[in-house]
Amino acid sequence: MLEQCPYCLGRVLPQSDGGCPSCQMQMTGDAVKNATMLAVRFPMAGKMPCMCVGCGRNTSRRQLFVETLADEASELPGCLGAFSTMLLYMVFGATKVSERKIRVKVPVCDECAHRRAVPPWKVESQEGTMLFLCHERFRKHLPRQAGGS
Ligand SMILES: [Zn+2]
Ligand SMILES: [Zn+2]
Repeated sequence: MLEQCPYCLGRVLPQSDGGCPSCQMQMTGDAVKNATMLAVRFPMAGKMPCMCVGCGRNTSRRQLFVETLADEASELPGCLGAFSTMLLYMVFGATKVSERKIRVKVPVCDECAHRRAVPPWKVESQEGTMLFLCHERFRKHLPRQAGGS
């Protein structure tokens, strides 16, 4: 069973000791609970915390992410994916790109936006969702703790 690594966002087969074969981090247990940055799926059900996903500071700012749900291109890291989407817009204009798109609004504070410190993200084409590495303070205020107990 492939599982989503909460650290590197890769879909991996966990090793027998629960480690991720890609980034070597422990995918289960206390290590995950205490980690600063972990994957959160967007869009989410319920109200988002008004906190920056990158640093956990309070913010009312939202940043819109638009990604094309393609099959092959979705394997690109988020920044490259965004760049190629931008290129497509520039080359073909917005009308030519008719694939499914996903738009999510994610709280990113001014400072992180200016420093371009937006955490890495990954598009899950099949599910139509996006994963962002989110700060622990943000995660603690999520409406429904996904898988947490
Ligand atoms: Zn990993
Ligand atoms: Zn921030």
